[in-house]
Amino acid sequence: MNLEGLPAVSAPLPWQAEVWQRLGQQLEAGRFPHALLLAGSPGTGKSRLALALARLLLCHKPSAGHNCGQCQGCELSRSGAHGDFLWLQPGEKSRVVKIDQVREAVDFAHWTAGFGERKVLVIAPANAMNTNAANALLKSLEEPAANTHILLVCERLHGVPATIRSRCQILRLPLPPQAQALDWLDSLTGERSVSARLLALAAGAPLHAEGYYRDASAEAREAQAAALAAVLSGQATPVDTAAALADVDSEAFLALMTEFIEGRIRQLSRGQLAVQGPAGFALLDELRRIQRAMEGGSNPNAALLKESLLEQLRRLGMPSASAKMPA
Ligand SMILES: [Zn+2]
Repeated sequence: MNLEGLPAVSAPLPWQAEVWQRLGQQLEAGRFPHALLLAGSPGTGKSRLALALARLLLCHKPSAGHNCGQCQGCELSRSGAHGDFLWLQPGEKSRVVKIDQVREAVDFAHWTAGFGERKVLVIAPANAMNTNAANALLKSLEEPAANTHILLVCERLHGVPATIRSRCQILRLPLPPQAQALDWLDSLTGERSVSARLLALAAGAPLHAEGYYRDASAEAREAQAAALAAVLSGQATPVDTAAALADVDSEAFLALMTEFIEGRIRQLSRGQLAVQGPAGFALLDELRRIQRAMEGGSNPNAALLKESLLEQLRRLGMPSASAKMPA
């Protein structure tokens, strides 16, 4: 998450309105959780929600339920120089939040707030912490300093140690309804057909769709999805396709495969799902397992990884979208 050049006010996304309202009420009633775990699908805006919450917590005069954008707290949180605000994420080219980073966070959590009433620590993604780092964090969760709030962000709850989970209030953030996601994308693209194409490509994850639009990568992404479809239908071999996708790094490849398979599963009729769903879900589990291992520092050979996963994709043999049967 890039924390530079933020707008004056950080608002939640439209599909987070209900959750936002509930948290706002908790804040007003002085019952805002000390530790909150935001969990949900990738590309749905969990980090944006964490940022909006952090800035609301640090604002001295919230207005209309959001941070005011004008007070000292808002100016500091906007410039990234707020001494009571720490955002922890893996460093560039790293997948792991390191133990030193977490120690810094633990120290931070025990300081007295300097600028305002509260301190906010965000760790995103929380599953990027290794066991040592998670254990170090536990101490802060067990002995919270007054008015310190810890916001954790994760895609998979089971990727976060149970000892951490059990000390947090858990907020589940599913994929938004398609209509709401499309309305939001329309305000960016200005055209429903473009929004629909992007959202389909992103398997329903609006922020991924936004990313494809902003970096004009939809066409490249569609070509990659077409390459996977050719493997699935037996028109291309896993080895050739792995070679054709050599430029895609392992992490991006896992994301590509995941979105592609999720999209295909969503297109299956109920009858097809009963027959073909289990193998598809098993492959999704396998992709998550590899992703977790990589978050933990494992570094598999990219070409072999792609060939092996594409071979598993070939064996799925799901029908193409055009062969979709009525439910
Ligand atoms: Zn403010």
